[in-house]
Amino acid sequence: MKNCPLCNPKNENIIYKDSFLRVILVDEIPGFIRIITQKHIKEFSDLSDEEAIKITLLIKKIEKIMIETLNPDKINIASLGNMVPHLHFHLIPRYKNDPYWPGATFCDKKREFNYPNIDLKTLIQRIKDIF
Ligand SMILES: [Zn+2]
Repeated sequence: MKNCPLCNPKNENIIYKDSFLRVILVDEIPGFIRIITQKHIKEFSDLSDEEAIKITLLIKKIEKIMIETLNPDKINIASLGNMVPHLHFHLIPRYKNDPYWPGATFCDKKREFNYPNIDLKTLIQRIKDIF
């Protein structure tokens, strides 16, 4: 798709990619991971059963790694696609008193927050080790 930013990515920090999906580190929030299908599909139900299982298990594995390496108070998993209707999942480590807590991270900032020292190197390596 010509006008889709996920079909035409720029400056992505790619942790892993294959023909089905890619996993990227998103700069906006420390430890923010996004999983994006390589195909331009709109809905989760557009995946085959096999693809749906594969991506669901990957989300579960990455969430576990995020919990173990980032020590968050909560992981948020979101798939919206209202602005970019190309299937993708946000996995966001959340901390009580982070700038948006307890709202979603696309809400207005409520406060300043110093994120704890996050070991991104270990996070990235452990995600690579899944594959
Ligand atoms: Zn797309």
